[in-house]
Amino acid sequence: MNVFVLNAGSSSLKYRLYRMEDQLVLAEGGTERIGLDGRIKYTNHRGFSVKTDCPLPDHEAAFNEIIKYLTTGESKVIDSPAEINAIGHRVVHGGVRLVYPTEVTMDVIEEIERNRDFAPLHSMAQAGVMRLCLKMFPASTFEAVVFDTGFHQTMPPEAYLFGLPYHYFKDYGIRRYGFHGISHNYVSERAAKLLGRDIHDLKMITCHLGNGSSICAVDGGRSIDCSMGFGPVDGIVMGTRTGQVDPTALIYIAKKDHMTIDEISDMISKQSGVLGISGISSDDRDIENAMEHGNEQAALARRVQSYQIRKYIGSYAFAMGDLDALVFTAGLGENSASLRAASVEKMEHYGIKIDPEKNEKMIRGKEGEISAPDSAVRVLVIPTNEELKIAMDTVALMHR
Ligand code: AMP
Repeated sequence: MNVFVLNAGSSSLKYRLYRMEDQLVLAEGGTERIGLDGRIKYTNHRGFSVKTDCPLPDHEAAFNEIIKYLTTGESKVIDSPAEINAIGHRVVHGGVRLVYPTEVTMDVIEEIERNRDFAPLHSMAQAGVMRLCLKMFPASTFEAVVFDTGFHQTMPPEAYLFGLPYHYFKDYGIRRYGFHGISHNYVSERAAKLLGRDIHDLKMITCHLGNGSSICAVDGGRSIDCSMGFGPVDGIVMGTRTGQVDPTALIYIAKKDHMTIDEISDMISKQSGVLGISGISSDDRDIENAMEHGNEQAALARRVQSYQIRKYIGSYAFAMGDLDALVFTAGLGENSASLRAASVEKMEHYGIKIDPEKNEKMIRGKEGEISAPDSAVRVLVIPTNEELKIAMDTVALMHR
């Protein structure tokens, strides 16, 4: 069975085609700069690879270009789109009602469109690609949508409510939603498998540390808290996003610099975080490089980042009352041994102790354990695979 996973952004469309029997990635890549000059990346399992500019006026053009690569010439992996048995769409925000993986229907698409204000940059593009697929593929092609917010819907009210007048929650759905749910769900399930334990008996903290970062408390396989909130800016300092900020500081800045709401919104999501503090870059590799050359602002950004991660780990362990496993994932979590080490500094007393050698020697792209033999908490590095999780959820829904 072939499952096509689609992840649309406002000007991008990422894709991966799986042969599910052996989880082989037949082809994958992305289109970028849709509506601008257009660019496509395509790789197939036989080693064919291309990265080229091509006009992509809209998502439909991008989608057609991907289908062309999949079905024709040297890049071909299937004879026709009819060989795609199912499609799994990723949607960032399901709003209040859309939670679990759901079959795509016109009603579901319209609900996502009605909820567009929750994730204005993504929702309309994602709904548009779903409309396109419903139109292009026969009714026999099963289509599912998996929500990034879905996994966190098990959070209790004490974790998801803000201290605002209650009617904002009732009337506008203002609450903590949490993000990266597909990733937290995937790595927590993988962690339980690696540990050979039933996930229902485990208390875990999963740290998705990438360009966007979030930390999640997973109790018995269910998310009970997440550092990202109403939107994906809350929580810990990220590449260009602030993480948690006192809202009165933003009101003060807006008044002082006569900034509009849109300008503030741009500043907190695109000019802040590690980039904002370091003044160098949002990319961790640049930060590590600058730190090696003695750059103090880079070191300061890293200290803020690791301190905040430690605070979340500590508070979630206490919120759950115990901790069995700590998991690192995503670009930084999988690759930065120094950030992992800094994130668990001074935690030996609480049973979290990593083995420095195992931590340094973690092989890129591989799952592994980095805790010391006498660590009460098992510390794992697990590469995230959101696309595979979407494909698996799509197949599970199809067979339900
Ligand atoms: P993601 O959003 O998961 O793709 O993660 C992107 C972040 O991971 C960027 O800050 C990258 O600098 C960081 N990253 C990727 N590879 C490495 C690496 N080998 N060492 C350190 N950081 C990395």
